[in-house]
Amino acid sequence: MSSLYERHRAVIPDWVALYYQDPIEITHGEGRHVWDADGRRYLDFFGGILTTMTAHALPEVTKAVAEQAGRIVHSSTLYLNRPMVELAERIAALSGIPDARVFFTTSGTEANDAALLLATTFTGSNQLLAMRNSYHGRSFSTVGITGNRAWSPTSLSPLQTLYVHGGVRTRGPFAQYTDERFVEACVSDLEDLLGQTRGNVAALIAEPIQGVGGFTSPPDGLYAAFRRVLDRHGILWIADEVQTGWGRTGEHFWGWQAHGQSGPPDMLTFAKGIGNGMSIGGVVARAEIMNCLDANSISTFGGSPITMAAGLANLSYLLDHDLQGNARRVGGLLLERLRGITAGIDAVREVRGRGLMIGVELTEPGTDRANPEAASAVLEAAREGGLLIGKGGGHNTSALRIAPPLSLTVAEAEEGAAILEQAFRSV
Ligand code: PMP
Repeated sequence: MSSLYERHRAVIPDWVALYYQDPIEITHGEGRHVWDADGRRYLDFFGGILTTMTAHALPEVTKAVAEQAGRIVHSSTLYLNRPMVELAERIAALSGIPDARVFFTTSGTEANDAALLLATTFTGSNQLLAMRNSYHGRSFSTVGITGNRAWSPTSLSPLQTLYVHGGVRTRGPFAQYTDERFVEACVSDLEDLLGQTRGNVAALIAEPIQGVGGFTSPPDGLYAAFRRVLDRHGILWIADEVQTGWGRTGEHFWGWQAHGQSGPPDMLTFAKGIGNGMSIGGVVARAEIMNCLDANSISTFGGSPITMAAGLANLSYLLDHDLQGNARRVGGLLLERLRGITAGIDAVREVRGRGLMIGVELTEPGTDRANPEAASAVLEAAREGGLLIGKGGGHNTSALRIAPPLSLTVAEAEEGAAILEQAFRSV
């Protein structure tokens, strides 16, 4: 009998990249821990941003899903759907967007695709601005706005996209700049780019902190400064909150709020962990933008009562237990610990983060050159120690990504930091 890995290779596309030389089959989880098929337990410092924002097998969500599955799952958009309306009401109120409408999808890709359809229809333009090093999904339209070549397999696109500086600060011409100078340089780059268009640009889409790009750290004022330019040109701002939303960044409920003076975006997209394992995505937009489509558009499973029940239970849990505050406190502690642990290590260029979204950038010692080998080696060593983390960043994945479920305890943060310390030492 061949191994599950061999069977995977025989039927799954080559471009579905697995983590680890000896890939893990995760069979179950609880809280912040998961178990593999050999019964080995891991502390999960990555699943929080992938699927399971709050905790693995959270009883409140499991119960809500089971109850809804036992009652009814039907078309979410042809008949009135109470859980969908209730979750939309709550998200609209939380979004900060005035007169907000919410359209639910089943993934982040589909959410961004819907936002692009709205932005291009609303403005009558297929010209887009996106950030270098960004990631926005895997569909034909979203790979066209993804600035990270490692995740954008085609240069053909229905959109004309120009890429703006600002996502990454550890490499490139602006690496040594102060925050203020960095923002000025990026704004002038944006103005310069706009001067090269034929006018009528639909939107800028941006992740407030780049996720797949390696948990980058743009200065707080960046998007507020961009916003002033965009407003002058009548260009919409779409905040891709697929990784940064729901309190993960600790200080704020949404990533865009770190750029407070910019006000709410015109559109906001979300997905991933809000269903705590059930597939929810969506776009929030002001009514005038959301209602610009003049043909019907429905989604069979977007807004499904079963995923909406999960979203409602999960959202209630994270608000009732102040998991945003937990992300701020425990994330702050973890960030300090990691800075301490890595202080003497030449290959660690930067430890950055907000809340429970922490990135560690690895370079070849004393240079700005990406060091993907070191990143992979730490990832493997952490796994040996019983800790799952992620990788990301540019065309060379040289950043480690740490994003545990938002319910992480102080003791678990300490435990994970100790494993990482060993991992760094062994590499
Ligand atoms: N936007 C961002 C910022 C993401 O990180 C991702 C997923 N990595 C997506 C969009 C796409 O989401 P999905 O995988 O659910 O399609």
